[in-house]
Amino acid sequence: MYQTIVIGAGIAGSVVARQLAEEGGRRVLVLEQRAHIGGNCYDRRDAHGVLIHEYGPHIFHTNDEGVYEYLSRFTEWYLYPQGHQVVASVGDSYLPIPFNLNTLHQIYEKDKATELEQKLIAAFGEGSRVPIMELRKSEDADIQNIAQFVYENVFLKYTMKQWGQTPEEISPEVTARVPVLISYDNRYFQDRYQGVPTDGFTAMFARMLEHENIDVQCGVEATERLTITQEGVLLDGQPFAGEVIYTGALDELFSCRFGRLPYRSLRFDFEHLEQEDFQNGHSVVNYTVSEDFTRITEFQYLTGQTDCDGTTIVREYPFAYSGADGEIPYYAIQNEENESLYNKYRALTENIPDFYLLGRLAEYKYYNIDAMTRKALELAERIMEEKK
Ligand code: UDP
Repeated sequence: MYQTIVIGAGIAGSVVARQLAEEGGRRVLVLEQRAHIGGNCYDRRDAHGVLIHEYGPHIFHTNDEGVYEYLSRFTEWYLYPQGHQVVASVGDSYLPIPFNLNTLHQIYEKDKATELEQKLIAAFGEGSRVPIMELRKSEDADIQNIAQFVYENVFLKYTMKQWGQTPEEISPEVTARVPVLISYDNRYFQDRYQGVPTDGFTAMFARMLEHENIDVQCGVEATERLTITQEGVLLDGQPFAGEVIYTGALDELFSCRFGRLPYRSLRFDFEHLEQEDFQNGHSVVNYTVSEDFTRITEFQYLTGQTDCDGTTIVREYPFAYSGADGEIPYYAIQNEENESLYNKYRALTENIPDFYLLGRLAEYKYYNIDAMTRKALELAERIMEEKK
């Protein structure tokens, strides 16, 4: 009775399911391992009525008008009036992150800061975005000085906590997500739209999945329902003729037969405090030189909720994913070795007819919400095109 099976009800699965159901007119079965939809964007009210992000802070930001319009079919937005802003707790100060000209003026005295500002502008151009690993290559002694400050106070310890490796050891694309900005822009992202769904991500995904052609089953382990063979997929032991879109971890689909794909995981330590404010209006404070956690998020400022009684915060403690029950693989650790292991698994899927991999887990990539939405829209388009 179903023409399409989607494994996973996160961003990737929800978008592709909606498109194939609505545009492609298919009957779609979505199987979700967890007890809820929304993947790691899942949010809910805690025992104190505060809207929290169960799997860490998720912020939607994009310049992709198409993606913004698409998601806006399912939600209204709380767009941050000043954009999303992050500070780093360093000693007694809060420093604007990404490091930018405001940060520069905060740490150097006026004349020196002005001189350095001119140098940075001359070297990289006003408004440019310079990855820390690029800034460190500068041969100018003053710029090297700044680079060293930023490296030590923003990147080194945070990255060691987050990845268990130095900024040199991880993929340069990761630290380049947070470049040094040669401007007075304190926003964490430079995208036009930045915010969260007004009534939460879960509500947005619920509306997306609410379609007459979609059935969602939560709490279902896909590997218990599906058998993957080179000839095709069996659903409950019967050959399944339609397409299957898999958004879970690829190694697990094959019982980790070549070994586990490495991921970083996180432990979230939530705390509700009977006080109005915890971090002086800041939604996210990064702990870049001290503490064992990477950052503290204060949810009322992340979500714009104004009727909180008290405030709820979360601390994030990274660790190496081991695959143990209850652990969640959050971040693929992209490097040559891991990618070649990933490719061995992917090769096992290449000849399976109508079988598609989509998402952070299934593609072993670091996607933002908007890029993931775009990718899912494109895959749905491609499937419908192929099956015309
Ligand atoms: N990073 C850092 N210090 C910071 C912010 C980011 O060292 O204050 C580095 C760190 O390696 C991190 C990466 O930049 O993993 C990307 O940061 P981003 O905020 O994009 O990570 P996410 O929010 O996706 O966890």
